[in-house]
Amino acid sequence: MRHEGKTEARLERIRGAVSPRRHNARTIAALTSNPGCGRRAVLDAAGVDKDGLAGRVGYPAGFGQSPFAIVRGNVFEKQVKADGCTELLRLLRDQLGLDLGPASYRDLGASGEVAAGGAPGEGGLDARHAASVAALTEAARDAAADPAAPGAVFDHPLLRLDVAGQEVSLEPDLVAVQPGGVCHIVEIKSFPVIDGQADGEKVAAAAIQAAVYVLALRRLLGRAEAVAYEVVLVCPKDFSNTPIATKVDVRRQLLILEHQLARLTRIDSLLDALPDDLRLDLAVDDAGVPVLDAAALTGALGKLAARYAPGCLSTCELAFFCRHESAGRTATLGVGVREELGGVETVADALGLAHGTRAPDDDQAEAAARLRTTARVYAEVLASLPARSRPGPTPREGGP
Ligand code: SF4
Repeated sequence: MRHEGKTEARLERIRGAVSPRRHNARTIAALTSNPGCGRRAVLDAAGVDKDGLAGRVGYPAGFGQSPFAIVRGNVFEKQVKADGCTELLRLLRDQLGLDLGPASYRDLGASGEVAAGGAPGEGGLDARHAASVAALTEAARDAAADPAAPGAVFDHPLLRLDVAGQEVSLEPDLVAVQPGGVCHIVEIKSFPVIDGQADGEKVAAAAIQAAVYVLALRRLLGRAEAVAYEVVLVCPKDFSNTPIATKVDVRRQLLILEHQLARLTRIDSLLDALPDDLRLDLAVDDAGVPVLDAAALTGALGKLAARYAPGCLSTCELAFFCRHESAGRTATLGVGVREELGGVETVADALGLAHGTRAPDDDQAEAAARLRTTARVYAEVLASLPARSRPGPTPREGGP
C-alpha cells in the first residue's frame, strides 16, 4: 500500500508498533461493498489487523480459512503451476479452447519479494511491480503486433490500483497473454467443483476479487479491451486434486467496482476528521501485556464512524462489534429499510412515528406517513384474524 509521507506517518501512528496487514483484492471487494464505512476504510488503510482487533474488543469474527484448507490450497496451486504451468496450459487449451501455443513462462516473483501476507517490503514490491509493468506491457504489445506468436504466462505478477487515493498492491495468481494480445486473469482456488457445480458464494467472492485484478490490469495497460472480461477459475474437480478450468464473466462486478471505487472518500479527508491521538495499537509489551486494553481500543473504534448493514456479516471481521454497537438503529435492518426510513435513525423513533406517539420533523414527514399507513394496515389485518391465529405481542405492546 503506498501513501504520501504525511498520510503514511499518520496511519502508522494509528496502527502502532505492529506490522501492517496488507490490502488485497478481498479487502478491496469488501470495502466497495460498503463504501460509506469510514471505519473500515481507515482500518484497512492503516493495515490494522481487524480480525485481531475484533477479538481484543470481545467480538471475535471467526473469519478465515482453516490451516488445513490453506495447506491443501497451496499444494493444489503448486500442482497447477508445476513445470512452467504445463498443466494450466493444457487446461486452457482443452477445456476452454484458449490455445497459447508453446507459451513462455516467467515468474515475476523472482523480481522481488513474494508477499505472504506479512510486512510489506516496499523495496522488493517496487522492483516486482516495475518488472510486472514492463513484462506485461511488452507481452501484450508484442502479442497484438504478431498474432502468430505464441502466448505467455506470468506467475506472481504484482499490479497496483488506486483505492481512495492510495496505491494498493495486488497479486493475481497468474496472467495469461493470448496470441493476438488479449490478457486473461487466472485464479487458482481450492474450493471444489462437484458435478459441475461450485459453491455459489465462493464463486461470487472469487469473481469480485478477480474483477479487481481485471480493473488493475486494464488500467496498467491503458486499454479495457486488452484484458478479457471473462476470468479463468481453476478448481479441484469433485473430491480429487484433478484441476478443472471454467470461465466466469465479471462484467457486472467490474461495473459495480468502478462505481463504488469512485464513491470512496479519500483517506486523507477521513484522517483529517479524526483526533490526532487516535491509536489502535494491538502490540503487547515484553511481559505480554497489551499496550492498549479492550476499553481503550473500544473507545478508539467509537471515534471511527461506521455504517453497519447486515451485509457486513459476510464481508467484515468487525461485523459482530458493529452490529452490537448499532443495535436499535434502523440501519441495522438493511439497506432497503435505511432508504425507506431516511431521516428516522432508531427503531424506537420509527415505532413512535408509526403509532403517532411522536411528531415527525420536516425531513421525516414522508417516512412517518409511510409508517402510519403500514401500522394501520397491519392492525386491520390483525383484527380480521381469529384470536388464536394472531402473532405474539406487537413491538408496541411488547417493546422493540
Ligand atoms: S462491520 Fe463495521 S467496520 Fe466493517 S464494514 Fe461494517 S460497519 Fe464498517
